[in-house]
Amino acid sequence: MEVEKEVITSASLDEANVIRQMPVALSNKIAAGEVVQRPASAVKELMENSLDAGAQEITLFLKGAGSELIQVVDNGCGMSRQDARICLNRHATSKIRGIEDLDSIRTFGFRGEALSSIAAIANVTLRTKRAGDEMGTEVSVDGSEVGTVTPIAAADGTSVTVRNIFYNVPARRNFLKKPSTELKHILDSVHVLAMANPSVSFRIVSDGNELLNFRASSAENNLDALSERIGDVLSLKSLHNLLSVRETTSYLSVSGFIGRPESVRRSRGQQFLFVNGRSVRHRYLEHAIFSAYEYLVPDGTYPLFAVFLSIDPRHVDVNVHPTKAEVKFDDERGVYSILRTIVRKTLGTAEIIPDAGDAIPLKGLKLDFDAIKKESNDGYNSGWSPGQVSEQLYNAPLTGLPSRSSEAGEELAPRESSGAGSSAELLWQLHDAYVLTQIRTGLVIVDQQAAHERILYEKALESLSDGFGLSQQLLFPRTLEFDAADFVLLQELIPDLRSLGFDLEQFGGRSIMLRGVPADMVAGDERSVLDEVLEQYKHFEVVEQLTGHENLARSIARKSAVKPGKRLSHREMRALIDQLFLCSTPYSSPGGRPTIVKLSVDELRERFNKKL
Ligand code: ADP
Ligand code: MG
Repeated sequence: MEVEKEVITSASLDEANVIRQMPVALSNKIAAGEVVQRPASAVKELMENSLDAGAQEITLFLKGAGSELIQVVDNGCGMSRQDARICLNRHATSKIRGIEDLDSIRTFGFRGEALSSIAAIANVTLRTKRAGDEMGTEVSVDGSEVGTVTPIAAADGTSVTVRNIFYNVPARRNFLKKPSTELKHILDSVHVLAMANPSVSFRIVSDGNELLNFRASSAENNLDALSERIGDVLSLKSLHNLLSVRETTSYLSVSGFIGRPESVRRSRGQQFLFVNGRSVRHRYLEHAIFSAYEYLVPDGTYPLFAVFLSIDPRHVDVNVHPTKAEVKFDDERGVYSILRTIVRKTLGTAEIIPDAGDAIPLKGLKLDFDAIKKESNDGYNSGWSPGQVSEQLYNAPLTGLPSRSSEAGEELAPRESSGAGSSAELLWQLHDAYVLTQIRTGLVIVDQQAAHERILYEKALESLSDGFGLSQQLLFPRTLEFDAADFVLLQELIPDLRSLGFDLEQFGGRSIMLRGVPADMVAGDERSVLDEVLEQYKHFEVVEQLTGHENLARSIARKSAVKPGKRLSHREMRALIDQLFLCSTPYSSPGGRPTIVKLSVDELRERFNKKL
């Protein structure tokens, strides 16, 4: 502090004056950072303008996931030449005239910041024409400098073209995430807008490929239209799992859909909350909905919902966040309890059978240890023989498990040789979940699911690194269609999925042609295999922050592993144990659960000798 004072006193008065008015271009650029954080924010702002302009059709063209080109074309009301000329100026808006309007905001925009912000950080060309006008107008802007204003022939409506976003903000441009991530953000933004506007059609064309095409609903009833749109956005095969919600109180009204408890997912991504038509993130209110499902769904699962709250704008402040994703209610607790009660009531009247313990089963996978075993004998791990595996089992330290026996130096050998026939007595399955086997020093208990996960995980990692996973060809190749978000992820994973043994390729639009699946998987339900692996992948990505091969290997293992409740044949038990000890880390599942518990004879003896 001292130092600063000195500087000021020793300086001349003029030099001490350090505050300057910022050049407009610079202040716009700074403000732009708040509104436009990534291509998806520009998309959102432009599409909201189209919706505010009453558009019935909105098309988004993208190149390079928005970093090269974002173009939003609408058939809304268009602008006059004068309006087109000034709409790119900061705080130019047609939507609010005075402070009193702030209390009754019904449009998406109102700050008049979006276009000027985008123009500050990109090359923008706007073309617009009102239905009644003969000629349209074209305005080009470059770094906030309004360039040319030209009369042009144009279709009714508005088209805004944004090129080279952040070209003059290298810090932002360099920090754009990989294209698939930016595309995912864009899709998320479009999905919520599409959800809130079922009567408007939305189309996205990305690098010439149609990524999404939601037709305007023709349903008379708003809820019917919404359910159709939810089906589109979430690629639901049927709307059977949607329960409608509709309730009005004096303070607010709630409408929309919630998912049946059976349809919960292990990852988020199917939750949509809107306040007066605007998508909001509100953890507290989301919790109100989740908590209404308590005891009806397994822990760590998320029910679907698309819930619209409608409330007098005077009770809610939408102005707390620059991107307007957050809102504040004057009676937050009240909203929470109304919402929870309404969801509970809907669930209560929907004849729901609680089935809390039931994890979502994976259909269509068969356990084929024989194939695994054959593969092993074919040189999966050269030099392997059943005898050696047994030795590995007995000699390996069972880390982290209680062991009071003095094993060191002890001579260990299986009670029986592993010759066929005689091994029968050595294996038991308990409760269709654990495999028990006797060893000389005691008893080994193997968790069949954890063990199988470990085996599949290491196999998958190996296939991913050497690029050669055994594939089983389908008799009839199938074309599978994915929703846009999954398709983007799938595109990214295709090379790795091929390494794992999936024989698949892109097939126009959002389709995939599937010719073969990994050898361990049964043909017939390939769709669910791919879906569930993707689902698991997304879950691990979010919850455990796993990436790349690690994530994929774990997802495959989690999804394909034998579950508790599956009776294993004797050979399968044998194969499970043998395979487990071929693993480099046999003692824990990929997720860190123990695969084996050992109980030594010493420990048993000690327990039985205890005097009470
Ligand atoms: P805001 O939406 O907050 O008013 P914007 O910067 O997004 O601010 O837009 C400024 C103005 O430009 C809007 O108020 C509107 O009058 C006009 N405008 C922008 N986009 C469109 C469009 N697609 N169709 C018609 N008018 C538009
Ligand atoms: Mg706007």
